Amino acid sequence: MHCPYCGYHETKVIETRDVGDEAIRRRRVCLRCDKRFTTYERIERMDIFVIKKDGRRERFSRNKVMKGILKACEKRPISIEEIERLVENVESEIRKKDGVEVSSREIGEIVMRKLKELDHVAYIRFASVYKEFKDIDSFAREVLMLKNEVNKKEDVVKENVVVKGDTV
Ligand SMILES: [Zn+2]
Repeated sequence: MHCPYCGYHETKVIETRDVGDEAIRRRRVCLRCDKRFTTYERIERMDIFVIKKDGRRERFSRNKVMKGILKACEKRPISIEEIERLVENVESEIRKKDGVEVSSREIGEIVMRKLKELDHVAYIRFASVYKEFKDIDSFAREVLMLKNEVNKKEDVVKENVVVKGDTV
């Protein structure tokens, strides 16, 4: 790393900070002219491929996951920050797995698991698209399963959140 002021080749790192998952920011000082400057190191990430139901492969798209979740969260008291965090968690969970391929089914399941913790209505909406509910019975079954899963106390907490939350 050369100093951008005097061109000297030796600099010292005085501060290192992650900028999201994508880059590392470093503050450096030149050992000759003593000026300070900042560098960014981009992290090259592996492409992940999604195997779709019909067997086609396509590049993993964070935006696509985001879109599906946004739709499910429409008019729910969930902030865009929460949704972004959820998408990030989904992606990092996928990246933790071995290999560079993941099925759309697996992605759907990860999203559902995380949505379930965040908002039950959004979860049911997402599940109804993802599981392709064919009739009202399969819809009702899913709701019943969710109700059984969640204990009463948790329900009260969620309802409070709904009452206080802003509409998005
Ligand atoms: Zn310098």
